[in-house]
Amino acid sequence: MEQKVAVEKGLQLPLMEAFYTIQGEGTFTGHAAYFIRLGGCDVGCVWCDVKESWEAGKWPVHSIEDIVAEAMKFPGRLVVITGGEPLMYELGPLTALLKANGFTINIETSGAHPFSGQFDWVCFSPKKFKEPHPSIYDKADELKVIVFHKSDFDFAEKHAAKVKPSCKKLLQPEWSRADRYMNDIISYIKNHPNWNISLQTHKFMDIP
Ligand code: SF4
Repeated sequence: MEQKVAVEKGLQLPLMEAFYTIQGEGTFTGHAAYFIRLGGCDVGCVWCDVKESWEAGKWPVHSIEDIVAEAMKFPGRLVVITGGEPLMYELGPLTALLKANGFTINIETSGAHPFSGQFDWVCFSPKKFKEPHPSIYDKADELKVIVFHKSDFDFAEKHAAKVKPSCKKLLQPEWSRADRYMNDIISYIKNHPNWNISLQTHKFMDIP
């Protein structure tokens, strides 16, 4: 099958990197996890810390069998699919194969593309730079809003109004602005206790 068609079907995917580490942020903080970082993102966040991921064509295309075989080499059975923006791709085949091999599957997404795949946990992190696709709101288990500007609190509430009631709501300071906004975040959460704080603990631990 031609590679372009295989990518459209989600049978092959551009892979920027894959690595076994500790999840540093969000609800699964502290869990050993195998990260599958797909290449390609069209969201364009100004503060993005993986800008090298944006150009999909830069990254080698792998079959989903090879991606899963690599993941199997590590003892953990939690996989985090991230990017880039992973929902640029059809994720049904990859997630079905991971599930068949006993993995718990999480995704980290801006929700900017139609939802695909089967996940155990969906971390939805909306971005101002590209409106989320409506299909994400029913799927999100965790709404994680990055605080980079004071207006991000209103932005967070706008999306919180659309997710399901059980969705966890997290505010996470953007790393370079953590000093500037930490007190505002703490104060906001004390006044709006339905929100929790998420910190990028992997950056404190200096791990990927
Ligand atoms: S959605 Fe993620 S990968 Fe894409 S630009 Fe924003 S932070 Fe970077």
